[in-house]
Amino acid sequence: MDFIDRYKKLHSNFLEHSIEINTCPVCQSKDFIDIAKQLIRLLSYLIYYPNGDILRLCLCCGTVMANRIYPPQYYFQYLQMFYGVRPGGRDEVLEKKARIRKDIATDLTKNFSFAPAAVLEVSCYDGSTLDLLAKDMKVDVWGVEPTLSAVDYAEKIYPHLKGKILGSTFEDSRDFCSANSPFDIIILSYCFRQISNPLLALEIILESLSDGGFVLVDEGDLLDDFLSAFDSEYFIRSLYQQKNYYYSLQSLIYLFESHGFEFIRSVRIQEATGVKLTYRGLVFRKTGVERKDSERLRLANYTGQVIAAAFEELAKPDARIFKSLQKYS
Ligand SMILES: [Zn+2]
Repeated sequence: MDFIDRYKKLHSNFLEHSIEINTCPVCQSKDFIDIAKQLIRLLSYLIYYPNGDILRLCLCCGTVMANRIYPPQYYFQYLQMFYGVRPGGRDEVLEKKARIRKDIATDLTKNFSFAPAAVLEVSCYDGSTLDLLAKDMKVDVWGVEPTLSAVDYAEKIYPHLKGKILGSTFEDSRDFCSANSPFDIIILSYCFRQISNPLLALEIILESLSDGGFVLVDEGDLLDDFLSAFDSEYFIRSLYQQKNYYYSLQSLIYLFESHGFEFIRSVRIQEATGVKLTYRGLVFRKTGVERKDSERLRLANYTGQVIAAAFEELAKPDARIFKSLQKYS
């Protein structure tokens, strides 16, 4: 079977098992509008976007999401087919990001007089962050990574990681996390948007994090992405690659705060990596107190409205981006 046939098989498998989202995971609202269908249809056609052809905006908290969510098993299969360790292994960007994540973790130990014993990294890829953490912070490290070739690679170049990384999606890692917990720091490395069930992810995090422990969420911010690369094809394409949800900074903070975490700070990661899109490290601390801040929700919604309006502009037939995408179709 060639690549396209395998892809088609995977796609039909997805259509059969995909889940329609009718409640926003951030705020539990059922009030959505579809955004820029025309642009998204064009794009779906161009890059085989499997999540259907609609993005929806939550009218309460401004979170943007696919209308259908692929289940973790599908995402797992997709990764084995489309991703792997790049030729030559590690690159400079990955190494820089690993160092930044390690520095953020080190700062936490200084600022909060905090002595972590164990750290879990979700989406640990080639293990470079875990290796740095183990060496510099002398902590016990654990990882979850759904791309199996990356797990093999990590175990090969860092023999001390052998048996410490589970080859799985985070949703399916509950037993592993529970058996090796408590962790004092959990790092979510640019994976939260892909997680199909963010509420389940939060449950696993809460269960396996020690009291007063920290979570570092390394994630893009939808509004930042728009501001830094608005009208660029690169940005638009990057939006539709196997993401389920697009959180703004405000909606992500609201989600964590309403599930027992306190927002500590946000660190920009983009400059150091030199990539076009913004990454932020959001630091949260487990308090167990559920806080629903209506002002945060209002700000998140405002951000969402700005993003929806921007999508509509991009989808106008005379918009530069629309034209440039259309010529490929
Ligand atoms: Zn919402």
